[in-house]
Amino acid sequence: MSVRSELENLKVKAEKALSELEDKYFKKELSEDQYKKWKNRLEDYLRSLHKQIEAAGSEDSLSLERSLLYEKSEAQKLLTAFLDERVKRLIPIIDKEYGVRYPEVEKVTGLSALDTIVLIDQLAESNILSASIYSKGIKCPRCRSNNILAQYVCPYCQSPDFDKGKVIEHFKCHYMDFELKFKKETELLCPRCNSVLKNLGVDYQKHGPWFKCSSCVKFFDEPLATYSCGDCGSVFELQQAVFQSLYSYTLNMNYISEYEKVTIPLKQLEEQLAEKGWILKTPAFIIGVSGLMHQFSAALWFKKEGLEAILPVDPDIILEVYTSSTGITADKVLSFAVKAQDVDCRVKLIVGIPRFESKAIELAEHYNIELLPVRNREIFIETVVNYVLSREVSERLRLQTAETAALEDALKMLDEKLVGEGD
Ligand SMILES: [Zn+2]
Ligand SMILES: [Zn+2]
Ligand SMILES: [Zn+2]
Repeated sequence: MSVRSELENLKVKAEKALSELEDKYFKKELSEDQYKKWKNRLEDYLRSLHKQIEAAGSEDSLSLERSLLYEKSEAQKLLTAFLDERVKRLIPIIDKEYGVRYPEVEKVTGLSALDTIVLIDQLAESNILSASIYSKGIKCPRCRSNNILAQYVCPYCQSPDFDKGKVIEHFKCHYMDFELKFKKETELLCPRCNSVLKNLGVDYQKHGPWFKCSSCVKFFDEPLATYSCGDCGSVFELQQAVFQSLYSYTLNMNYISEYEKVTIPLKQLEEQLAEKGWILKTPAFIIGVSGLMHQFSAALWFKKEGLEAILPVDPDIILEVYTSSTGITADKVLSFAVKAQDVDCRVKLIVGIPRFESKAIELAEHYNIELLPVRNREIFIETVVNYVLSREVSERLRLQTAETAALEDALKMLDEKLVGEGD
């Protein structure tokens, strides 16, 4: 789901909550204080939602083509392989049946050779992949097959019967032949005039390697190439051949933040945790204690009886996912800490793919932020689920709940006391 549709969803819910609130107040099920407090909070929330929906609108139209591609699981797999650096560049190979194939992509996506080409074309058209010419091959001009065999003949008589070697030219009698024919023990002897060849450049010259045709006995420096098609049998010269460019592809890093979002399987995480009694919202828009709204990769609520997490407040866990092959920096931890501090929440968690820098770890400790490193995207769900269901987290949630309850009790007592004293 796109950010925009998630925002629209929240807007509908918030509007519904607001009308329910009015209703309850009208039926006198709420005190005026409670009503005002919630009304203010909801109205603030709706205002900031409107702003975000406007901002998301302009981004969405630009990336519509890309976002459609991102929904394909094969595209996600390929992007994941790029981001995990299992794939760096898509290299073509010539294939007799399909023309060109990208075996690496076939392996990563599980697609057929032809579907792989289609996917690569779509990704290149929408600028997710950048193409560059890798090589030029030739195809049969008649049947377009690239099952081509090159053959070489004498350019004078088209005979395929020729040899290659260093050639000696004797200046005095103008005789030319392969060096081998001049060799007599340690000397060079002209087979035509029987003179001994002494000084290179004075008596004789060396050429080549050249070619000599056995049929017409002529020398030439390049044989003529002809090509024959392995499929239809037609024979043609280079001038008539159809040229085919083969492309290699790299990932266009301009949209790296989009790839990172789509390759993190938060929706699957939502399904898995739902079975264990957790509600997960992604992306999550949470109203802070200050009334400002903050966006997180996800927020989690443990389902308690009678609680429906309609309102985006007070989650049990807020979670942000960052990725960086060189390690998540302290900057990222700090930017998370700023918004996380404004949220009344038991566990504040950063998931880092694949690791954190040591400064980031220090800073997280200082701000009481949990860090969860995940080595690669393939084990993302498993690692996060294990963490959320861990004893450490559940104990922490219980403890915090107990603390909160104790605090509430204390405040209530204080309140009663103050009211009592006021009498
Ligand atoms: Zn010839
Ligand atoms: Zn000679
Ligand atoms: Zn052919």
